[in-house]
Amino acid sequence: MFTDLTLTAILYDLGRLTGLIAFFGLGILVFAGDTTRFFDRFFGFDRLIPFLKKLSYGTAVFLLLHPIFFMIAKQKFLAYLIPDFFYLHLALGIVAFYLFIIVMIASALYKRISHLAWQYLHVLNYILFFISLQHAKHWGSSSSYWYISASYQAMLFLIVIGLIYRAQHKIRHKTKAYPIKNIINENHDTKTFVFDMGEKQHFQAGQFCLLRIHDKTRKLHARHPFTMSNAPGSTELAFTIKQSGRFTEALFQLKKGDKVLIEGPFGIFTKKRCTTKRQVFIAGGVGITPFKSMLEDPSTENDPRKIFLFYGARSKKNMLFEDFFSKKLSKKFHAIYCLSQEKKSDGICEIGYIDEKILLKYITSFEETCFYICGPEAMKQSVIGILKKHKVPKEHIIVEHFYW
Ligand SMILES: Cc1cc2nc3c(=O)[nH]c(=O)nc-3n(C[C@H](O)[C@H](O)[C@H](O)COP(=O)(O)OP(=O)(O)OC[C@H]3O[C@@H](n4cnc5c(N)ncnc54)[C@H](O)[C@@H]3O)c2cc1C
Repeated sequence: MFTDLTLTAILYDLGRLTGLIAFFGLGILVFAGDTTRFFDRFFGFDRLIPFLKKLSYGTAVFLLLHPIFFMIAKQKFLAYLIPDFFYLHLALGIVAFYLFIIVMIASALYKRISHLAWQYLHVLNYILFFISLQHAKHWGSSSSYWYISASYQAMLFLIVIGLIYRAQHKIRHKTKAYPIKNIINENHDTKTFVFDMGEKQHFQAGQFCLLRIHDKTRKLHARHPFTMSNAPGSTELAFTIKQSGRFTEALFQLKKGDKVLIEGPFGIFTKKRCTTKRQVFIAGGVGITPFKSMLEDPSTENDPRKIFLFYGARSKKNMLFEDFFSKKLSKKFHAIYCLSQEKKSDGICEIGYIDEKILLKYITSFEETCFYICGPEAMKQSVIGILKKHKVPKEHIIVEHFYW
């Protein structure tokens, strides 16, 4: 690309390069957004969504740099800021630039604006892509290379495939609303919502669904992910949910008989992923839900492998499902409760966080062991650090990211 090494030429080529990267970044974002439900089975939603977030930030940086390099190289500023439709394809590039900025600002404001406004704003991404494609094809000098021109066509093909996938998924898997059958108060801030699904539910313990509600004012809320806390195979789905913000607050106001839109199952945080002799479950707070489902699953009963559950909570009153786990205790299943804010142990619980000392006290070797981790960020990072120190292979560390 850098054939002429004068500063102006280098800046100009950098402008072309950043434009190309931004265009392909945008294309991948649109395609991945349409096909997230398909790729969930390979990577898991909890990895895909943060990846897309990072990709959108990266794309924004390249998109911002694209005109800046041209402005400096050509010493022309307004020509790259104000669209002149006499030069249609350059003007389209400038329009695309502003549209992208609008979409990015809307994303940043996501927490404050209404979900529907956010959805409509996302439709702009398609318009943005097609305008950018016209700009790149007809204005960008790189399209004179056959392979670049072919990649534009390939990207367009991917976008069309993504759109078709999204449309057929929407038609085939229309999100249905299910009535709340029961609400169980687990503790001061956590409730289990049991739904009557009408037919036997097939999912793998550890998977989650996307829940969506209309609140009292009929306002539609964004989809939020929650793991099933009951075992597969029954006609009910249970979600144990901690109240933390707007969505969960609205959910907590619902009553028996109210309906919730449920879509799923999704996710790959399942026991299928590991075949080691021993399994160690490490949970923090409400991150216990996938393990409750796994331990309730009849397939776990028939599995001879040993399971150690390390469950971290602030105090006894914050613990979930203590009775359930206590009844499960056996030669095969061990539960270790670590309470960070209790002063004195009752002889059963450990005091403090789940750290290296506690792990080594109960599992003397980390070999032939799969570690499943679900809990707050600090706990997750600390445990992963310990496992890395003990050279636990990457494929034996399976993490569910509860916060996207
Ligand atoms: C795979 C998975 C499984 C989960 N399972 C459970 C569970 O079983 N029980 C439970 O209590 N919690 C679970 N969570 C976490 C739960 O989804 C969030 O705590 C919840 O959505 C935040 O609700 P809120 O009322 O604070 O939302 P709001 O106040 O409506 O929104 C808060 C904002 O925080 C952001 N946000 C932060 N975390 C999330 C998230 N995880 N998903 C979407 N937006 C998020 C969004 O931008 C959102 O707009 C799970 C999360 C994931 C990713």
